[in-house]
Parts: sequence; C-alpha cells; structure tokens
Amino acid sequence: MNSILDNRPALKAGIWKVAEVAGYLWQKGWAERNGGNITVNITDYVDDALRALPALEAPRPIGTVLPHLKGCWFYCKGTQKRMRDLARDPMGNGSVIRILDDCASYEIVADAPVAPTSELPSHLSVHNYLIATGSPYKASLHTHPIELVAMTHAKKFLEKDVATRLLWSMIPETKAFCPRGLGMVPYMLPSSVELADATIRAIDDDYDVVMWEKHGVFAVDVSIMDAFDQVDVLNKAAQIYISARNMGFEPAGMTEEQMKELSDVFGLPK
Ligand SMILES: [Zn+2]
Repeated sequence: MNSILDNRPALKAGIWKVAEVAGYLWQKGWAERNGGNITVNITDYVDDALRALPALEAPRPIGTVLPHLKGCWFYCKGTQKRMRDLARDPMGNGSVIRILDDCASYEIVADAPVAPTSELPSHLSVHNYLIATGSPYKASLHTHPIELVAMTHAKKFLEKDVATRLLWSMIPETKAFCPRGLGMVPYMLPSSVELADATIRAIDDDYDVVMWEKHGVFAVDVSIMDAFDQVDVLNKAAQIYISARNMGFEPAGMTEEQMKELSDVFGLPK
C-alpha cells in the first residue's frame, strides 16, 4: 500500500519516533486502553508534493480559532486509538492533518481517514501558544504516569513547587534534566476548555511538565522523545520517594547545599 511516508525519510523517522514513545508509554503502564495523547508539529518535514495532495475527507472544524497555526501540519493520535497499537502502526492509529487558512478547521492528509483525538483542540491550543511565543518546542504529550498521579491525591503536593522540590531532591539528575520542575493544575474536567487554558497558563509560568490533579501529566518539548524523557525522569524520582516510604521511612532528600552546588556547577535555574 502506498503511504505518504514513502520517499520522505525525515517525516517517516519523525512519525516512527512517536511510535517508539507510544510503545514506551504502554510498557511503563502509563497508557491503559486509549489513554493518553500525542501531537507533534511536523510542518518542517512537509514538502510541496505533500502540500499538493488532496484531503481524504471534507474539512472538519477545530472548535476554536488558532491564528498561529495557519499552514501548519501535525501528526496526532487517532480518537479511541491505543498507544500499544500506535507503537506498531502509527499511520493506522494516528493521523496527519493540515490546518486550513481560516485557522479554524483542518483536513486529514494521510494514508487512511483516521479521525484525530478528541483532545485535538486543547493540544492545538498549546501548539498555537508555543508558536506565538517563539518556542522551539514541537511536541506535546499527555499520559498517566502512575506514581506522579498517585502523589496528586495528597493535598500537600498540589501546592506550588512542593512536589518539584521533593522530586529534585531524590536523585541529582532530576533537576539537571527537568530544570523547570513540575507545574500543578487543580482537578478540572478532562477535555474541557478550562483545563486547556490552565495548562497553557502553567506552561507560560515556565513549566515544561504540568501535572493534572488525579489525572496525568501534560508535557511539551522540542521533540516527543524529549517530552517523554522529562516525564520519565520525574516519575523515576517519584518512584524513589515511594520506595523509601514503602521501606518505612521518609527519604532525607539531597540537602539545600547539595542542590545549590548542583545548580551552580550545571548552570541550572535556581
Ligand atoms: Zn488522560
């Protein structure tokens, strides 16, 4: 079967990176059923021949107007599709879409008319924000990391930067690889405009990884692998914290002096 990935090695590699990450999400136990979403800005990989291809279906409304997305192309997980299936068949479980000039609708230009995730408006709103601010970030990831979600069931960890400081102090690499820490968004209805807006406010507050209380994380970065890595590093720190608690003690954590030395030597934000 012909694929739009044929003879487009950069686009193909980019989409297979998403498949690789989808496999990791499943292996980690973070992607039950159709849980989680990935949207990647693939505009840089799109050539004139691809731009000239007809859409597979009539345009669909995004549900909002996103002026910075004019002419942008995205790969996104399909609605009701599973990460474990996307891992072996990214074009059968995800979609390539182009945003139309009205910035309010999109068309599917892909191998099959796979409808994008119902979370598309919120993911695209984040990408619209990223482009508006000149960010180099191209990828957004939503997933359900077990230990991080568990922590949000305790009120004390929902206060600003309480979880960040705890997680950073569990193992030095956490601050080195997640220097902006973990933002917190209080519980809001999944898929709601309010949740999307609060997520953008948290990203604007300089977080790359935002925790949704009792739900999951939303992460942004230059690539899908980098977004995954930040969540993986933070969840590892949460696992170390929980392991210590399971052994019956509150972990000491790195000292303030050790954290300061780390920040000074590696040039991390204070
Ligand atoms: Zn979710």
